Amino acid sequence: MKKSKLKVFLVIFFVILLALGAGFGIPFGIKCAKRNELVGLGYSREVADYILTNDYYEKFTEIGYNETLNHILLQSDYKTEYLDSYTQISYVDSEDFLALTNAFLDKNYSTDDINFIFKRFEHEDIVKLSERDYFAELQKYYSIDYAKLRDLDRYVSYKEKTNKDYEQTVLDVSLNLDLGEYEADYENTEFSVDMLVNKNFSVSKDFEPKDLVDAGNGFYLNKEAYEAFTEMQSAARSEGLEIEINSAYRSVSEQEAIMNNQCRTYGDDYCKSHVATPGFSEHHTGLALDIKSKHSAVFEHSKEFNWVVEHAADYGFILRYPKDKENITRYSYEAWHFRYLGKDLAKKVTDSGLSYEEYYVKNIEK
Ligand SMILES: [Zn+2]
Repeated sequence: MKKSKLKVFLVIFFVILLALGAGFGIPFGIKCAKRNELVGLGYSREVADYILTNDYYEKFTEIGYNETLNHILLQSDYKTEYLDSYTQISYVDSEDFLALTNAFLDKNYSTDDINFIFKRFEHEDIVKLSERDYFAELQKYYSIDYAKLRDLDRYVSYKEKTNKDYEQTVLDVSLNLDLGEYEADYENTEFSVDMLVNKNFSVSKDFEPKDLVDAGNGFYLNKEAYEAFTEMQSAARSEGLEIEINSAYRSVSEQEAIMNNQCRTYGDDYCKSHVATPGFSEHHTGLALDIKSKHSAVFEHSKEFNWVVEHAADYGFILRYPKDKENITRYSYEAWHFRYLGKDLAKKVTDSGLSYEEYYVKNIEK
């Protein structure tokens, strides 16, 4: 190629280049450099082009790389007015992340609240929350890790009524203490060793405890619970103490018969306050038993009682209705009623100093 021809070629080349650059509003070479800079920061090529086309270059180099922006900038529901807020919100890989973020920003949630929401709740709950009115105390309730979204309205009305602190409010409502006895609609349909049955957690009519075995004298217990009891009984015996089963499994229909019989004999008022309503007795589980001492009519006053209280957890049992927890268990203190939970759980519950109700809502139910 001759020199003159090369010159002409170069001139034409630069004219074309300039024309291309003019078409984008900025010289092509500069645009390339800016785009490379944005890509170098971490933005995708498409996002980098979008930033340059919309004159966001200055803004974005100031922000630096932002994962959230990189993901949402090209989405149709991206809102320019929320740009600064978006930069404060950690990206969550979810199809409707931007729609939900917008919904919360529309409701005036702070970016701190929004990050909290995405971290704290399951997707289903996040959607529900996005459909509710702005709730200023959200973090106060839900930094308590077992607080549930479904109970939010109950928390609010209970707190209004009682003026208790957030922690106590969440605990009380989780224990259904904002409801009357037998009012909660929770129903156990399946057996598990850690199941909770009380005046607010019932078993269904067709509930069947697992592995019932003959425990002698007409009593039946869950096999594991019975074996643990006999182990405890032998240990007590080796120290000269005699414990026996005084009551064990009772079916819902058996409880109904007891109830009807007592109501007929003593009247409705008496039976309702003295007999557990069918479906709500822990004896339905096959995991609860009443213990007596062979030598003493009042178990609480026997040597056996002291021994059992001290050793029950080693065999997987807990004293189910302690003295200082009557307002939570909703049962008067019962020195004789023990519940099998397995050794691990019984130890944990005993060491926690909590009633089983409290331990359950804090550690198991959630
Ligand atoms: Zn009992």
